[in-house]
Amino acid sequence: MYDIASIYEAKSVDDAVRALKEDPGALVIAGGTDVLIKVREGRLAGCRLVSIHGLSEELSGVELRSNGDIEIGPLTTFRGITESPVIQAHIPVLGEAADQAGGPQLRAAGTIGGNVCNGITSADSASTLTALDARLRVKGPRGEREIPISQWYQGVGKVNLAPYELLVKLVIPRENYEGYTGHYIKYAMRSAMDIATLGVSCLVKLDGETVDDVSLAFGVAGPVPMRAYGAEAAVRGLPIAQAVREIGRAALEDVTPRDSWRASKAFRLQLVEELSGRALAEAARKGGAAV
Ligand SMILES: Cc1cc2nc3c(=O)[nH]c(=O)nc-3n(C[C@H](O)[C@H](O)[C@H](O)COP(=O)(O)OP(=O)(O)OC[C@H]3O[C@@H](n4cnc5c(N)ncnc54)[C@H](O)[C@@H]3O)c2cc1C
Repeated sequence: MYDIASIYEAKSVDDAVRALKEDPGALVIAGGTDVLIKVREGRLAGCRLVSIHGLSEELSGVELRSNGDIEIGPLTTFRGITESPVIQAHIPVLGEAADQAGGPQLRAAGTIGGNVCNGITSADSASTLTALDARLRVKGPRGEREIPISQWYQGVGKVNLAPYELLVKLVIPRENYEGYTGHYIKYAMRSAMDIATLGVSCLVKLDGETVDDVSLAFGVAGPVPMRAYGAEAAVRGLPIAQAVREIGRAALEDVTPRDSWRASKAFRLQLVEELSGRALAEAARKGGAAV
């Protein structure tokens, strides 16, 4: 039994913004895979919902713009991300990350927008979007604004969305993916249908066998998805084999994991150290390095 007081099906993004403004307590629902669980558990019992589920024309799909930027509609499902020819051709690591969320039913219903708007550090798309330095375009009563993902996560379950704002686009600037290869590792206690104990996403740009540039990001290594800027700086310019050996130890200085019922802080630190090197090695192999 779902205890929902009302649900309004928005006709357009502007209509959704208007409906949210008219009913300040109402909550956006997209795929519903988070919201409906909370309703069912009673945490959102009696809620009022504004559904954007029907706005696929405005809010779904992946597009390669003429300037090379990739624009992703927030209603694009995990499966839509993985199967997108644009993602497969230009940022396959994001499709691989999306493909590790939940099971087939979840990937057919859950959206990438919901995955970043829930503000959860374990979200499978979040560390790769963080490594890609994605930009999040939101729309509210005062128009649009664009937020770098580094300023998006504001605490556990809290994101940089003002009242009545909707996420309307995720933008991956061309310079953030072109020339890079990437790899995402989800460490979980089970190999399917489990939330990440730790997620690590690494992008690397090679100059022969040397690291020209690297971007390393984690989920569950702190309260929000995070970049490991110190580790990146430590291995830039190093031969790739040396970088693979050193990046994990350097990353320990960047992260702030905690104990949870899923895993201890000590275990998460061990994962950070070990998986950073593995993710970098695999990303470099995809870029042609013999490491
Ligand atoms: C069985 C199960 C397994 C799961 N496994 C995983 C997993 O392995 N990995 C993983 O990362 N996640 C997992 N999840 C979590 C979930 O599927 C994702 O977080 C999903 O991406 C949420 O998307 P949604 O469209 O269903 O969001 P919804 O439930 O519709 O919304 C989620 C939140 O985002 C807000 N929101 C959604 N879209 C917008 C928007 N465009 N603008 C503003 N706010 C918005 C909503 O208001 C709500 O607060 C699992 C969930 C279930 C039920």
